[in-house]
Amino acid sequence: MIRLPKYIHNSQGTLWLTEDERDNLKISYRIKEVVFEEESPFQHVMVLDSFDFGPMLVLDGVVQTTSQDGHIYNEMITHVPLSIHPSPTDVLIIGGGDCGAAKEAAKYESVERIDLVEIDETVVRASKRYMPEVSGNLSDPRVHYHYADGVEFAKRHTAAYDVIIVDSSDPVGPAQALFEPAFYESLRRALRDDGLMVCQSQSPIFHGDIMEQTYRRIGRIFPYTRLYTAVVPTYPGGLWSFTLGSKRELPEPERIRFDKTALYANQELMRRCFSLPAFLKERLGPSAGAQLTK
Ligand code: SAM
Repeated sequence: MIRLPKYIHNSQGTLWLTEDERDNLKISYRIKEVVFEEESPFQHVMVLDSFDFGPMLVLDGVVQTTSQDGHIYNEMITHVPLSIHPSPTDVLIIGGGDCGAAKEAAKYESVERIDLVEIDETVVRASKRYMPEVSGNLSDPRVHYHYADGVEFAKRHTAAYDVIIVDSSDPVGPAQALFEPAFYESLRRALRDDGLMVCQSQSPIFHGDIMEQTYRRIGRIFPYTRLYTAVVPTYPGGLWSFTLGSKRELPEPERIRFDKTALYANQELMRRCFSLPAFLKERLGPSAGAQLTK
């Protein structure tokens, strides 16, 4: 009897990963092959080759990113803040072990240093080796890898960064502290006077309370806060939120300029992503998105 990894089950000779999203919602992906599996000191790490989404990174049974749609999230969490900052040179990425965000940040000629602080070295090793569509097998000399807790790393830096990207997993386990006010306060201190941060703030559909709590917490620490969205098919409910916290007034969306090569992001999307659906405006208040001036 072949031992099946955790979270994988065999149904009539076919392998399936079932994400146990919530009591009444399970999401299953048909799997061709378990490409990588390791129990790291922090979590169970797998790379699975799936029929519909290609290779996918799975942490503790939760799909983090896939070769098919990982670029949507990685482009939107990276290009929005880096297009807003006038001339980013130093970027901090907390989490982001699949290297997708770092790969996008490396597209900016002005960027001189990218500190990637990932608590689990196993994730970087597996992503570079088995998820090249996401990681790009990143070898840019500007990227410096720190295998450490992002909470502690942020505390040790003051006025050191122009943009901070918190590309965390869900607020459980080691990522829980990345959703706390004290952490956001340490990011404010780690940013320069014209700096801004962004974090993934979960699903407006299934995790509305966490999304709102994140938006309000960042709003209490940063003078300018805005939420934007993108649709990521492999994230529960599709619609996903990102929250910006900025020390400088955020430009109106029409003034955002974007000229990088990307699969999903373009200048129009950089501007329209701040237009929020009515239920989100209702929940967060009219200033959560941005008023399009035309
Ligand atoms: N794009 C994915 C998403 O939205 O779910 C997540 C990208 S990446 C896989 C998330 C990373 O955050 C994981 O590799 C995890 O190990 C890392 N992480 C969790 N807690 C952390 C912490 N306290 N410090 C640094 N990295 C952390």
